[in-house]
Amino acid sequence: QMTDISTKGGPSSPSYDWFQTDSLVTLVIYTKQKDIHLDSIIIDHQNDSFRAETIIKDYSYLIHIGLSHEVQEDFSVRVVENVGKIEIVLKKTENISWKCLGRPLEKHNSLIPKKDTGLYYRKCQLISKEDVTHDTKLFCLMLPPSTHLQVPIGQHVYLKLTITGTEIVKPYTPVFDSLLSEFKEPVLPNNKYIYFLIKIYPAGLFTPELDHLQIGDFVPVSNPEGNFKISKLQEVEDLFLLAAGTGFTPMVKILKYALINIPSLRKVKLMFFNKTEDAIIWRSQLEKLAFEDKRFDVEYVLSAPTSEWKGKQGHISPALLSEFLNKSSEKSKVLLCICGPTPFTEQGIKLLHDLNFSKDEIHSFTA
Ligand code: FAD
Ligand code: NAD
Repeated sequence: QMTDISTKGGPSSPSYDWFQTDSLVTLVIYTKQKDIHLDSIIIDHQNDSFRAETIIKDYSYLIHIGLSHEVQEDFSVRVVENVGKIEIVLKKTENISWKCLGRPLEKHNSLIPKKDTGLYYRKCQLISKEDVTHDTKLFCLMLPPSTHLQVPIGQHVYLKLTITGTEIVKPYTPVFDSLLSEFKEPVLPNNKYIYFLIKIYPAGLFTPELDHLQIGDFVPVSNPEGNFKISKLQEVEDLFLLAAGTGFTPMVKILKYALINIPSLRKVKLMFFNKTEDAIIWRSQLEKLAFEDKRFDVEYVLSAPTSEWKGKQGHISPALLSEFLNKSSEKSKVLLCICGPTPFTEQGIKLLHDLNFSKDEIHSFTA
């Protein structure tokens, strides 16, 4: 059973195939692309519906099948990166021979531009919730055992809640559980847990409801979205991160990934804008990291400090940026990431252009 489809202007047509042993069913997806990783594929298996979405550049290739027989909840996924092959191994519940894999469900075997696919949600369980600052908490959600999903660095997901009868969704950016947890190996998020740093706005629509969830409750979590590409970090020497408030969240994974996986990296500087000292997320972790890794530095800028504050003050400004953005050499390869309230990000981008940084050197995180 070999199928092939193609699309005009998109990547060359992926295809799939399957085979079985007494106890296993292996589904093989041939993406015909090299740039395929474990975070390129999202798998959800619920009841007899099996869904595997592969992200190939800006396209989404969907396998969507009503399996002909029962399989166990857990499965394994392997990506052969150099040939772009994905293998999903399902465990049969009964050792019988399958005559077919199953029946095609909606949009099975289709390759669609990613922007045209709806977001798929699966219910995740709230495992823990921990205070980080007076108004920000670290939420830990657990994926179902029958889901394979890794949120790529720099991307976000949507959380969904039903509030007074209406479904509301809002975007949130997964972080690591800590900046310091020992990981000497390349980032291995082969993990069932997703962590979020979320600020609760007492008068907000969504976050008070989120805060009211009990441990053990379920929250639908979407597939990842976002246009940050990890390739932007390739060969970077100076990485500058401009974050305001919870705009810190995309910086968490970028920062750790860069320190561990980018050999060319000489310097990472975080300029962290907050209203007050007690609003600074993970301050002691940031300082510990700066102490442990000489390439990393953090500076705080407060817009509403108390009179005791001796550090930098104010909003983002030309003076603050020109002092902060000192490259390690005139020609060094630079990446600037910026995230925060919309006016902060917009002003920041304008100021960076005024300082002669090019579009390619700036990545802004926006809605
Ligand atoms: P809202 O109801 O949107 O209100 C927010 C604030 O505005 C509150 O202080 C509220 O009192 C005030 N407000 C509301 N309406 C009015 C009004 N009419 N006039 C004046 N003030 C008003 N947030 C995080 O905490 N962590 C993340 O990791 C994160 N990632 C994000 C990623 C992306 C891509 C984007 C776009 C946003 C992200 N956010 C993140 C923000 C998040 O999506 C929500 O916007 C945020 O949680 C606020 O939601 P809310 O419904 O509780 O508040
Ligand atoms: P906040 O209100 O506590 O402000 C933090 C700092 O932002 C301030 O100290 C100030 O320096 C700066 N700032 C605020 N308003 C400004 C303005 N009008 N002009 C210039 N600078 C200003 O911030 P918060 O409540 O933590 O909000 C964080 C924002 O970041 C939210 O709007 C959220 O949606 C956004 N966010 C976006 C993404 C994303 O797009 N990927 C991810 C996370 C957070």
